[in-house]
Amino acid sequence: MEYISSRNKNDYFKASDVIINGLAKDGGLYVPSFFPKLTKNDFNELIGMSYEEQAAKIISMFLEDEYTYEELLKYTKLAYANFEGAIAPLVCVDKNKYILELWHGPTAAFKDMALSVMPYLLVAAKKKNKQKEKTLILVATSGDTGKAALEGFKDVDGVEIMVFYPSDGVSLMQKLQMATQEGKNVYVFAIDGNFDDAQSSVKRIFSSKELKNEFLGLKYRVSSANSINWGRLVPQIVYYISSYVSLLTSKKIKFGDKINVVVPTGNFGNILAAYYASRMGVPINRLICASNKNKVLTDFFRTGEYNANREFYKTTSPSMDILISSNLERLIFEAMDRDDKAVIKLMDDLKKNKKYSLPKKAMQKIDIFYGNYADEKDTERAISEYYDETGYLLDPHTSVGASVYNKYLKEEKDTKTPTILVATANPYKFPIAVYKAISGVEINDAFVAMEKLEEETGEPIPRSLTGIKERKVRFKTVIKKEDIDKEIFKTIKNN
Ligand SMILES: *Cc1c(COP(=O)(O)O)cnc(C)c1O
Repeated sequence: MEYISSRNKNDYFKASDVIINGLAKDGGLYVPSFFPKLTKNDFNELIGMSYEEQAAKIISMFLEDEYTYEELLKYTKLAYANFEGAIAPLVCVDKNKYILELWHGPTAAFKDMALSVMPYLLVAAKKKNKQKEKTLILVATSGDTGKAALEGFKDVDGVEIMVFYPSDGVSLMQKLQMATQEGKNVYVFAIDGNFDDAQSSVKRIFSSKELKNEFLGLKYRVSSANSINWGRLVPQIVYYISSYVSLLTSKKIKFGDKINVVVPTGNFGNILAAYYASRMGVPINRLICASNKNKVLTDFFRTGEYNANREFYKTTSPSMDILISSNLERLIFEAMDRDDKAVIKLMDDLKKNKKYSLPKKAMQKIDIFYGNYADEKDTERAISEYYDETGYLLDPHTSVGASVYNKYLKEEKDTKTPTILVATANPYKFPIAVYKAISGVEINDAFVAMEKLEEETGEPIPRSLTGIKERKVRFKTVIKKEDIDKEIFKTIKNN
């Protein structure tokens, strides 16, 4: 399998280069040159497999020119060894309603699903390409990617990692998880801006030739652990296929039956992986794209216009507080029938005017998507209603999904299709909002809220979040968003 850029489909790249580089030279995102198809035989084979085996098989469909199945299986086993309980369990909460729990990893959010595998793919890619320079992973995070990337890359030989997060834009738990990170190759910075500021700085560095040369002079190559990196996306395709297989195994559906998938969305990485799974042959009826009050994607799917000229809101689902969803470019590429020139034009519009519009025909091509949003009230209400009705405790991100699914049911009257709601974080990661939703009481101390929540619900606190209060804070620096480049060079020169 070879890869092309969403802004140039004439140059082909091998998977290892794609994983090392993160972003294409032309500023585009790498996409597979075609979608491998899952046959009925593949599904039958997947039915008998463990999650690690399924992951190795599915990832190898994209990387097999350079990575063998056995090699990938070694990585997926190592990657998921420290997950708590099952890796990605599918829980039935009601007739035809399922929750796919993606928060069993070391940071209690779904980013672990990919970021525990990706470091193995990257280190192997460097070996395969005999690359000697150190890799500098730059990460912009709205809260969860940062910690998951730090965990995945800590003390990995030949790699250093720097994480930038919005100083006032993450939950206390998220901030502490990052600020207390251990490891000798990790650096964490708060910036005085929002996620979009952090992401655009990092993306600018990736596409700047001068800066890249400056890094090379210092014997570094920069790469990305954000979901713009293909190495992040491919392990995310796995759980969509795996959960369809679970439904087949438990005989809840027959082969070929369609399902809906509801995904709480920010940077459009997770739901894009679901779209790719559908292109590979998972029978998906609708992909329900759930946004919070920052509903730029809802408006896009409803009007065909992507317009980021709008107020930015801080919400109780901070990992979805995003106005520029980078991965949407990959979907646009498909919607425009892989017309790279048209993508360049649209992305120019986005850069210049912070908006662009797709023609009707392109929107029809992606009408598998349904977009809607939940405001703060909806989100809070869905947590308490869900808990009352099913006994299942949602985090605020997943609750955005639950609320949007209710709106979908009302609007589309599709009550028959089995539906998987993707749970992207454990509720204890956002204890203040969750406790308030179920009790009506606002407690300002996250740790007290955590205890109260445990008392009231009896839900176990994940191992990864216990003891965080006692850990030593290592990183306190807040930097100006204009100073990101300067800080990066200062840090590597001080090494
Ligand atoms: C990152 C994140 C999201 C959004 O995922 P995208 O891939 O950026 O769309 C949703 N919920 C949680 C808890 C997250 O950490």
